[in-house]
Amino acid sequence: MRIAWDALPGNTSAKTSLRAALNSRFPQTVLLAAPDEEDAFTCAGILSAALLCTGGGAPCGRCPSCRKLTDDAHPDCIVIDEGEGEIKVETARRIRAQAAILPNDGDRKVFVIRRADRMNDSAQNALLKSLEEPPRYAFFILTTAQPGALLQTIRSRCTIYQLEPPDAPDAPDEALLAPAAAFLRALARGDEYGMLCAANGFVKLNKTGFQQAMALLETAFRDAMLASVARPLLPALADETRALAGAVTTDKLLALCDHAALLARRADVNTGAAIQCAALAAGAQTICHPPRPARRRP
Ligand SMILES: [Zn+2]
Repeated sequence: MRIAWDALPGNTSAKTSLRAALNSRFPQTVLLAAPDEEDAFTCAGILSAALLCTGGGAPCGRCPSCRKLTDDAHPDCIVIDEGEGEIKVETARRIRAQAAILPNDGDRKVFVIRRADRMNDSAQNALLKSLEEPPRYAFFILTTAQPGALLQTIRSRCTIYQLEPPDAPDAPDEALLAPAAAFLRALARGDEYGMLCAANGFVKLNKTGFQQAMALLETAFRDAMLASVARPLLPALADETRALAGAVTTDKLLALCDHAALLARRADVNTGAAIQCAALAAGAQTICHPPRPARRRP
């Protein structure tokens, strides 16, 4: 199971309400609906981790509970996954029986029922009672791509979160994309001259435009950092950010984010555009390919 909050799929408003619910009293029966069920399941894993985390985290990823979940070995997280098959009444009865047993490790127990719409009517009816009056320690998270296929009686007992695809960021300005892509490519291959030429593409921008360009680069560095766990926020630069992820460590990507943010702030005090563009290339080169210390003469 992937449990990092950063990997949470979906739109900002769904994420915000899930975070708010976790910070207060999380509902015991939840239906996660997403156009792609895989997204709902990823979300269910992260929520299970947050509910069971003992490190006081969001989830923390380090406590024994989080580690067991990452290894799919947490005794208090029970995942029902029948694949494309039907979920039958025997399975629903088994869930009820398991829900009656106290948690093994801590004070909570989470049941994740994947593709809950695959429950036949008898299974849904058998589960109804558990969803209606769950034991105080039990949480039920149902995932589905077709919430409408569930009985109304089940839906009405659940708090429903509809995950939509991630919010598209404001479409980046075409005029910024080409130099940004060239800059990222040159950075990935450690070509300082190439970076300088690409950065020169930002030289005619006014202050706001330059700040938008720095924000675009910051987002690209973020995409590179999360290349293996999250969808890119900038699909137009996906090839470049993937290449960068393979060429530059996470620490350096973080430093690059700071560098872009610093230049955006400097633009506020009207530093000359040419200097800013040169600083962009030189700073990125120093972060990613620091000069070797000169050898001392004997
Ligand atoms: Zn934890």
